[in-house]
Amino acid sequence: MAFEGLSERLQATMQRIKGKGKVTEQDIKTMMREVRLALLEADVNFKVVKKFVNTVSERALGSDVMQSLTPGQQVIKIVQDELTALMGGENSKINMSTKPPTVVMMVGLQGAGKTTTAGKLALLMRKKYNKKPLLVACDIYRPAAIQQLQTVGKQIDVPVYTEGDQVSPKEITENALKYAREEHLDFVIIDTAGRLHIDEALMNELVDVKEVSKPDEIMLVVDSMTGQDAVNVAESFDTTLDITGVTLTKLDGDTRGGAALSIRSVTDKPIKFIGMSEKLDGLELFHPERMASRILGMGDVLSLIEKAQQGVDETKAKELEQKMRTSSFTLDDFLEQLEQVKGLGSLDDLMNMIPGANKMKGMKNANMDPKQLDNVQAIIRSMTREERSNPDILNVSRKRRIAQGSGRSLQEVNRLMKQFGDMKKMMKQFTGGNKKGKKGKRAS
Ligand code: GDP
Repeated sequence: MAFEGLSERLQATMQRIKGKGKVTEQDIKTMMREVRLALLEADVNFKVVKKFVNTVSERALGSDVMQSLTPGQQVIKIVQDELTALMGGENSKINMSTKPPTVVMMVGLQGAGKTTTAGKLALLMRKKYNKKPLLVACDIYRPAAIQQLQTVGKQIDVPVYTEGDQVSPKEITENALKYAREEHLDFVIIDTAGRLHIDEALMNELVDVKEVSKPDEIMLVVDSMTGQDAVNVAESFDTTLDITGVTLTKLDGDTRGGAALSIRSVTDKPIKFIGMSEKLDGLELFHPERMASRILGMGDVLSLIEKAQQGVDETKAKELEQKMRTSSFTLDDFLEQLEQVKGLGSLDDLMNMIPGANKMKGMKNANMDPKQLDNVQAIIRSMTREERSNPDILNVSRKRRIAQGSGRSLQEVNRLMKQFGDMKKMMKQFTGGNKKGKKGKRAS
């Protein structure tokens, strides 16, 4: 999971200060030392870390915090705010032209995920914004790059403009824009060439394409797994091209998170999208605030609900939200959700959106792959209606019957029930008034 190390360390640090009724200067110093190490270990740029630590310390030592009734909570809130600010504050929207077509130029090193992201963006624009996209193949050097874009275009049913590999990218761009106007296509995405390293010839070519296309958006695609390197790459591209936005790819992998936390600060350019899967529907808007909550283990219910809405109809998503909030979530709901979840990507990722779920040992180590989801479904399906809505009645003999019926072991049935119980507890805790900075009623 992305940010795992950082998340664990920050949460442990926050946990120590959380309940404190009195916070001393020494407490803040100790905490900030831990935060500093956690950030450095996550490969966050050292200048960024220094500035972050100074800002948080200054605010935390402010008299209104120290004298408040809940200084521990206040300090955590400051860390959360500053983490959000570090990643850019609010979500930055893609620049749209008032005179169509909107032109987006995708730039980045080879392998960063440009072509994939170009396809993802085209799909997102069509689905969410009703745009008519055109993909333009300007990577005339990498063997099979044009073909790759054509394959992507076919998968999402978006036209791809190509003139093969013997025409200059500048000319291809000019002609593609003409074509888009003739065909009334209103969102042009130019997939440019990447290299393994930044070189002058590449940059000159990109400057040419920029000149003729006058893009509304120059979207730099960077691989989040490359950490500090991603930040250096972003700086170079920005110096030459004056980029307007960044897409961070492969955030579904186990990146330490340094790139996500440093890029905005170093380049002053916003991260607009994040790549969360290899699949073409795996592009998400980047919400700094939600990411900060996720890192601090406070969950990201909004993204979870949005994800649910992609796969479930809206009424059902609302029902689910309601159930989570009122703790009337049953095994039947869980089963129904599992069916939807299979289409929504990694369960690990979803679990991280549930407040506190990443702290649950059982859940974290469950490593639920799709096959395990099948097993869980089999277990729940072997239960009677009554058992599903009132799992407390499950005694050993019932559990044995369920295990036998589903072809799973008794331990697996027990584990699932334990996990479900924990999950309900977390939901209850979350809805029990945490927002006010108080612990909710103890979950039973
Ligand atoms: P390009 O050279 O910049 O055009 O990079 P590609 O689009 O060909 O992507 C390089 C590799 O990264 C491919 O195997 C993609 O499937 C993969 N990739 C791109 N974006 C993501 C992402 O967000 N998540 C994951 N897991 N893989 C990605």
